[in-house]
Formats: sequence, structure tokens, C-alpha cells
Amino acid sequence: MTHTDYVYDLSDGDATMRNLLGGKGAGVAEMKRLGVPVPDAFTVTTTACVETMRRKGEWPESLWQEVLDGLHRLEERTGLKLGDAEKPLLLSVRSGAVQSMPGMMDTILNLGVSEETVPALAKAGGNERFAWDSYRRFIQMYGEVVEGIEPHVYEDALTKLKSDRGVEHDTDLTAEDLRELVATFKKLSDDALGGAWTNDPTEQLKKAINAVFKSWLNPRADVYRKANNISADLGTAVNVMQMVFGNRGDDSATGVCFTRNPSTGAKELYGEFLVNAQGEDVVAGIRTPRNLEEMKEVLPEAYDQLIDTMNRMEQHYKDMQDMEFTIEGGQLYLLQTRNGKRTAAAALKIANDMVAEGILTKEEALNRIEPAQLDHLLHPAIDPSHGQTPITKGLPASPGAAMGTVVFDADTAHEKGHAGEPVVLVRFETTPDDIHGVLVAQGVLTAHGGMTSHAAVVARGMGRPCVAGAHEIKIDPKAKQVTIAGQVFTEGDMITLDGSTGDVYAGELPLVPPQINEDFQHIVQWADEVRRLGVRANADNAEDAAKARELGAQGIGLCRTEHMFMASDRLPAVRRMILANDDAERTAALAEILPMQQSDFEGIFEAMAGLPVTVRLLDPPLHEFLPDLVEQSLKVQKLELTNGDAAELEKERALLAQVKGLHEQNPMLGTRGCRLGMLYPEIPEMQTRAIVRAALAVRERKGETAGVEIMIPLVAYAEELKRQRAVVEDTVADELERAGAELEFTVGTMIELPRAAITADQIAEHADFFSFGTNDLTQTGIGISRDDAESGFLGQYVADEVMPRNPFESVDRDGVGGLIKIGVEKGKGAKPKLKTGVCGEHGGDPDSIALFEELGLEYVSCSPYRVPIARFAAARAVL
Ligand code: ADP
Ligand code: MG
Ligand code: MG
Repeated sequence: MTHTDYVYDLSDGDATMRNLLGGKGAGVAEMKRLGVPVPDAFTVTTTACVETMRRKGEWPESLWQEVLDGLHRLEERTGLKLGDAEKPLLLSVRSGAVQSMPGMMDTILNLGVSEETVPALAKAGGNERFAWDSYRRFIQMYGEVVEGIEPHVYEDALTKLKSDRGVEHDTDLTAEDLRELVATFKKLSDDALGGAWTNDPTEQLKKAINAVFKSWLNPRADVYRKANNISADLGTAVNVMQMVFGNRGDDSATGVCFTRNPSTGAKELYGEFLVNAQGEDVVAGIRTPRNLEEMKEVLPEAYDQLIDTMNRMEQHYKDMQDMEFTIEGGQLYLLQTRNGKRTAAAALKIANDMVAEGILTKEEALNRIEPAQLDHLLHPAIDPSHGQTPITKGLPASPGAAMGTVVFDADTAHEKGHAGEPVVLVRFETTPDDIHGVLVAQGVLTAHGGMTSHAAVVARGMGRPCVAGAHEIKIDPKAKQVTIAGQVFTEGDMITLDGSTGDVYAGELPLVPPQINEDFQHIVQWADEVRRLGVRANADNAEDAAKARELGAQGIGLCRTEHMFMASDRLPAVRRMILANDDAERTAALAEILPMQQSDFEGIFEAMAGLPVTVRLLDPPLHEFLPDLVEQSLKVQKLELTNGDAAELEKERALLAQVKGLHEQNPMLGTRGCRLGMLYPEIPEMQTRAIVRAALAVRERKGETAGVEIMIPLVAYAEELKRQRAVVEDTVADELERAGAELEFTVGTMIELPRAAITADQIAEHADFFSFGTNDLTQTGIGISRDDAESGFLGQYVADEVMPRNPFESVDRDGVGGLIKIGVEKGKGAKPKLKTGVCGEHGGDPDSIALFEELGLEYVSCSPYRVPIARFAAARAVL
């Protein structure tokens, strides 16, 4: 052990030390430990970065000395020396977070190249051009990343030199040209910094490490972390590694490989390489690389060694690996290995295959899949029978269908995408700086770059369809247009991408609903063997109920009855009921609604026969069923102005008066939920009759009916539940007596107000079950309106990390979660047999499900299409 507080030598680390050394640092250390050829290195720990952030950019006192000591040990081990004219050590300074963030942070290559070291480098590489090329690359990278010099400073100089020499490609420049370019670059850099440019490699090392620390907080890393829920507190490690050169000549190369296809999951070779190139050329998508297969011909020995190493690493990590390699003078070096990012479909296939191959147990396999990823599979695909001809083809870099209007920069994509417009981002190549655009785009189309470029890796990880390297397209970003097969598309024109085939189409194509394939089936079946939480669905009609059952729902946790009231054939009767002048009128209107409700329930109970169905009695404020106040006022005004039919005017005025009478400033906290039932007990009575009659009718027809659970919404006081329960029980008794039948049923309540959670012991006395309505509990618990907050301050709050996440998407653990905890404890304390569940949107959110598991609820309920995800997430919550 040679490590100090903040600096670890390559041989000090292993795979278990991710938190300290970052994923990259732990990965290279582990490879070294296993005897894989890795360039020698040392790692500055994440703690050093965290500590530096805590000190607002100032390094911990001992850090620089520790780095110098680490450097000296590295110099001793390699027999080389930083800045030495005879035997120069060249370094890469690489970022490496605990969780990989491909390309989001900065890396500096070729550090240590200088006027003094160029001759030795040229000699070692057997070629002078390579040495000067490395030098000018270094100045460019160091200048941009460390000193913040504008990229165009270098690009313009390079372009000018090429035109002076009358050549088109960088590769056409001679050693002498590049030597001149280095001089120009140095002068330009020094000018840009007002004379502060340094040529001292030790100084450069210090600044480079600091720049990598800082890159942890750069905007694209920030966007990436937010999109992936990675904490900003973790910091990055910095790997200082001896350079190996893939650009030394034709016996050198660099590339990226995956042990399985990250797009489909197929067990096959997947990778790309470039001869005579430095790694950045591949991962940054600057040059479109060659298929790894071809390396067998070009560099057979290194190829065989690489394949062997790939297999070993996959066996070792028991997971698909994404590896970076460089070959210098025929000798293979591995630069990175990590568990590869993959599409959802690939994740499922790999999990299935690895179980079949005996590499993983089922439980391990479940742990390899991200619950949120399953979401990606539940998106529509292009209808295979569309019969259209693609206008061009690129590489199928990330599968799925993307349809949208073309945009040519990430800012515009960000703007339009946020406004809800479907856009396809069309770029020459995408850089990590485009991440905010990629996040909201339907898909990405690039002219350059391969399947392993950072853009492709990120798109796959986010489930964003991507067609890369479509080299026939001609993009003119200034004119905001792209020409594809002679056809010009300007901003706003629609195109369709098929990321599974690489095909690009003009206009829109028909889509088909998502297919749940066999791999998916297996995974959720394994999940069912493991999970404790029950999974039900929220469904309001027979069709959704049937779909939910097909997707594995174990019942209905929330059947909202108001949707049934909204249907056009019953709205008139519902309005008559609301606007009734007396009980008789109301009873008459309700009698009209009853048979319609009954038939709705029959359909649902039939679809769910043998499983429980929780029916929630009427919940929304009544004005939702009436015309809008403003619209009705306008209507009356118009009639007044036009001196229209007097009788009609009278009628509309009367309606307006009633609408005004029912109008509330704050309907969310108004006359709704059980408060309606308290004012008009005829409503719960009618609904209860419809439920009982439907249950009996279905049993009669099918021999089996659903388990009836009647749920009273928005209870705040135990007394409310006590009285509403009495209405329900009396009505059920009446119905059953008339029918001469028996029926089991339960009565419970929603817990969706803080008062209900806090007095849950009192409420439990009258409840057979609690269903936590987390949508309203979030509104009332935090005091924010779901309808307004998301377009108001909430976005800002989430962006500024005042709140960790949007609490309507993922349950607020401490606050709303705290209320649920109190509700469960007090409820079960008073009545141990009380059944508890969740029926808000959070019932389908994996992180929320993990909390519900912790809190010991019996089930979650979510929309039908989320049922498979919830089944899976429930299993993950116990693993
Ligand atoms: P990222 O996280 O952006 O992939 P890396 O630290 O992996 O950043 O560096 C980017 C690329 O630079 C690598 O893919 C590799 O090809 C090249 N590189 C990094 N370190 C070295 C090295 N020691 N020798 C040669 N190439 C290197
Ligand atoms: Mg890398
Ligand atoms: Mg509610």
C-alpha cells in the first residue's frame, strides 16, 4: 500500500472502491489486478474533489504534495520523467465519477508534450509528424478545457493553415506544417491569456487536475445528473495515467467495444476502431470509425487478445462491459471498462441470456435492470406495414421510433421540446454540450459519428431513438436546413427516424402500440416470485380493467366514478341532479343515472371477476359537471346584447345563477369528496345501489363477481366516515334484502388530507382499509396545487434543487412519506387487520414504490400500462 489520503496508485485499488476512486479508477485498478494490460496510473480520489468544492475551489493543504509524490512513484515505476528531454512521461488527466457520465466531464490528453520532449517522442514513435500532431492536439485541448480559450481560436488557425497549404484534411499536413501550427497555437494561447500561458508540465498537471474537478459542475454534467438523479455532492475522481499512443502509425489504433450488442442485447461482437488515431476521435464522434470485425485483418494479434480480454471481463463482472482500448505499436492496452449502458430491450435480453447461461441468478438478473428503463419498452413503434421508402440510412445507434419536426441546435430543441412540440435534433455530430436538447427531443439524427460515440451511448441510456453517421445528409445549420436525397427540410418540417434500423423517412409514419415481448414476460414473472407488495390498477371502465388484468394487475385499487358521470349520454341527467331545486327532483335525476352506473360497474366487475375492485364514490366538486362560469356569463351577455329569445335568456340566466351559486374560489379544498355525500346522501346511496346490483348481476351471469370495496374520499374527520359508512351499509342491507341475496363487501377511505393521516387511529375504527391518495396528499400536505405549480414555481424549485424532485412525479419522502408513515402506524395501531394501499400516480413510480415497500403497505395501484413496471419495481424494492 502506497496510497496517501487523496492519492492512490493503480495497484492500491480494486472494483469495490468505486466511491473513492470513481468508476473509471476502480475499473482500471481491477483490470490491473487481474493482469490485463493497463497503462500505469494514479488516482486522485473523489474525496479530494468534494473537499475542494467544500473549500470553494481551494485544494486541501496536503493534496498537491500528495500528487507530486504520486507522480514521482509513477516516474520511478515507468522509468520516465515528466518534461524530461530524453525519456519523457506523457499523461492523460481523466475525469471519472462514481456513476459513469459518458463525455459529460473533461479529460486532457498528451500532457507533458513540449518543445523539449517532442524530439524524444518523435524518436520513440519513429515519426516526427505524430509528435507534432500530439503537441498541437494538447495545446488545443488544454487551452480549451483548462484555460477556457474559445475553440474557434484554434479552429480558425487550423483552417487558415490548411487553405494556405491548399489541402483539405488535417492528415494532409506535414510534420513541418504542424510544427508551425504549434508555434501559432502557442502564440494565440498566450495572447488570449494576456501572457499567462504556461509551458511547465508540472504546472499544467496541477491546472489540469483542477479543471477536471471543476468540470464536475459544468452545465452539461449538471443536466446529465439531473436527468439521471445523480447527486451533485459526489464529486469526480481524477485519473492521471501514462499515455499510450494509438496515433503512432499503422500498427497503432484505438477503439471502443461492448461485450454484447448494447442495442439489442445479442451476444455478439460490437465495437468500432480507428487505425492511427487517438481515442477522442472515436468517442467524440469526430470521425466515423470502422467495424471492430475488420480489426481481425489489420491487427490480428491485438484483436485476439482483445476478444479474450472482453470475455474475461464479462465473466468477471458478470455483466456486459463497455471497454475502451488503444493499441500502440501492436501492443494492446485497456483504458477503461464499465458496465455498459444499454437499451431496455437489451437489458432484458442480456438478463435473460445470462440467467440461461448460468452467469446470473434470477434475483441478480432483476437487479441488473433499471425499473425506469422498462418504461422505454412501453412506447409505440413504427407500424411495420407502412410501405414507405426511406430517404436515407444511417447507423441504428439507439432503437425506437421518433417523429418530429427538424431542429438544428440543442437550444432550439430544448425550447420547442419543453413547449411540448415533438422535435428531432439534426446535428453534424452531437457533443455532450447538446445534452439538454437530446433530453427533450423525440430523437437524434447525426451525419457523423459511430455507434459507440458518446452521443449514441447517452441516447441509448435515455431511451432516445438515434440514427448516427447518416453521411449522405447535408446539414446547413446557418440556413437551418438539411438536404436528404435532394429533398430540403427546413426547421418545422416533419421527419421520422427508425432507430432500430437506421432508416430515415420524410413526414409521419403510422405507429403501433408497444409489444411486451417474451424477455419482458420472464422478467416480470421472476419479479412476481420475489415481491411482497400487491399491484393493482387504476381503471374506470371495462376495457382498461381487462387491459390491466392482462398486464398482471391483481385487482383495481381505484375506480373513479366521476369519469362515468362525464359521458355525454349521462351529463344531462347529472346536471339535473346537481341543479335540482328539491329532494324529489334530485331523486328523480339520480334514478335516471343509476342503471347507467350499474352497467359500467358490471363491465368492470366482469373483467375483474375473482379480484378486488375498490370503487371510489363521487369525488370532484360539482361545478366540474356544469358549464364554465366565464363562458356562461358571456353567453348570457351575448343574448342580452342581441335581444334574443326571452325564454332562452331566462333559462340561461337561471343556469348562470346556479353556476355562480356553486362557484368556489378554491374548489380543490371545497365541496367535494365525502363532503358532497354529507350534503347529498342520495348520491352515495344511488352509487351504492348501482354497485350492489352490478355485483349481483355479474355473479348471476358468471358464477363469480369481483370483491366489492367501497371507498369514501377526502375524509378529514372520523365522524364523516362513520356517517358515510352508515349510508353505505344501510343501502347495501336494503338492496340485499330486496334481492334476497348475500354479498361480502368492505368499506374504507382515502387518506389524502394531513388531518386524516394524523387522526388515522380514530378514522381506522370505521374503516376496513386505507388507500393513500398521494396526489391529493401531496397537494394538501405540501400546500401546492397540482394544476398550477408545474407551470409556475415548481420547475424553478426543481432546477435550483430547493426540492430534490417534482413531488408529483416521485413522492416527497420526508414530508408526504412522513404523513403516510403516521397514517399506517396509527391506523394499524388501532386496527391491526387494516389493509393499506396507495392509489395516486406514485403507485407506478419505482422510487416511490421503494418507499411504500419500506412503509409496509399491502399494495400499490397505478395506471394499467405501468402495472408491469410496478410489479418489477416492487421486486426490486425487496432485493
Ligand atoms: P470519457 O469519460 O469522456 O470517456 P476518458 O477519460 O475515458 O473520458 O478519455 C477519453 C478518451 O481519451 C478515451 O476514450 C481514450 O481513448 C483516450 N485516453 C484517455 N486516457 C488515455 C491514455 N492514457 N492513453 C491514450 N488514450 C487515452
Ligand atoms: Mg471514456
Ligand atoms: Mg383525491
